[in-house]
Amino acid sequence: MSAATGAVTDALRDLHARFAGVDEGELADYIPQLALADPGAFGLALISMDGHRYSTGDADVPFTVQSVSKPFVYALALSVLGLEEVSRWVNAEPSGEAFNAISLERVTGRPANAMVNAGAIVTTALIPDTPASPRFGRILDCLSRFAGRTLDVDEQVYASEVVTGDRNRALAYLIRSTGPLPVDPVAAVETYFRQCSVRVTALDLAAMAATLANGGVNPLTGDTVVAEPVAAQVLAVMATCGMYDSSGDWLLRVGLPAKSGVSGGLIAAGPARFGLATYSPLLDRTGTSVRGHRAIGTLSQRLGLHLMHNPALAASTVTLVTTADDLPSAPTGERERARYERVAVVAAQGALDFTAAERVLFALDEQRPQDTVGVVLDLLRVTDIGTVARAMLRSGLARLTADGRRAAVADPDGRLREPGGGAADPRCFATREEAVAWCTAEQAG
Ligand code: GLN
Repeated sequence: MSAATGAVTDALRDLHARFAGVDEGELADYIPQLALADPGAFGLALISMDGHRYSTGDADVPFTVQSVSKPFVYALALSVLGLEEVSRWVNAEPSGEAFNAISLERVTGRPANAMVNAGAIVTTALIPDTPASPRFGRILDCLSRFAGRTLDVDEQVYASEVVTGDRNRALAYLIRSTGPLPVDPVAAVETYFRQCSVRVTALDLAAMAATLANGGVNPLTGDTVVAEPVAAQVLAVMATCGMYDSSGDWLLRVGLPAKSGVSGGLIAAGPARFGLATYSPLLDRTGTSVRGHRAIGTLSQRLGLHLMHNPALAASTVTLVTTADDLPSAPTGERERARYERVAVVAAQGALDFTAAERVLFALDEQRPQDTVGVVLDLLRVTDIGTVARAMLRSGLARLTADGRRAAVADPDGRLREPGGGAADPRCFATREEAVAWCTAEQAG
């Protein structure tokens, strides 16, 4: 076993060993088939943004997705209709109530959010239904793409839910009576029951969570399942509403967007970091897996995964702040050195985002001598420039140019340039020396 596989798998195994003996909680029995689950089953799985899979215990054991389907069908609705349209039908406010509560807004009858049953039934009903592409087919296809493999329905659980699903039917009729249900309540609930009966494993759920964490791109298949803004919207609603009436406590203590289901599945997503899933069917009073809750809570604490946790700042962005006369390539003649003294040089490294771009621009401002003639920005060791950072650096450099300074960038691939940027583009050079030479050239003075 390699070093990484060993370390991550060890962490999962450790959680498994620690919580496998916990036998608190009850099997869900209001759907009779769910009461047949093995109460001892316990699986954990984690998938990284590079698609590395780690698991332990019953991570390959199939069970029905139940409410863990809700964020993914919400993602599908957002993809098809957009946030504004979906929000007309279902709100995004934590209800503070149980998953099957009558969480409907006064007057409009709009469900509180898409994570409680009322909102999930509406979300399901929003998915278009055409002869060529029936509603449930779209949903199954979407869940499968999130999981990275073709999923199917557990017909026995489906039949069992149909028999005992009166509360969900009642909810659907109630919503319909005030308006915000675009289709027949019977049809809406049947599709919702089928969606809840889709069979998955903990590894599937980890892939689904990892896809949301990875901006909508499945890290196993490379498939763009939903657009990045949709993935972010879904994670936001999972963070505030995913754990029903324990959502606040979960965000406080565990600090990760999450979703639970009554068959014992639980997912948590670390944005841009990992997808995590557990399976253990003994549930607490809110319908959340007892062992899953403890395992994910413990992992979050141990590995510092809480979203609001203040991580050490990423490796320093700015690696050099000086003036050109201090560079080894500077000339020795006094007159020339005086010119070189008036050119600021800043070098950066790593991936540039908003925070990193702010650091670079601040360094440029700090270093500018009184009578600056130019600045050189060395991006040779920068691995990636985000859209926001690019716009910030461009406008920072443009401001200097407008001020009559020369601005040169050591950036052989011209990553700060824009298609058709023309005169507004910064001057890009292959090396730092060439950029400095252009900035310090006689006519610059
Ligand atoms: N199918 C279940 C229901 O609607 C899903 C509930 C859940 O997993 N919390 O009652």
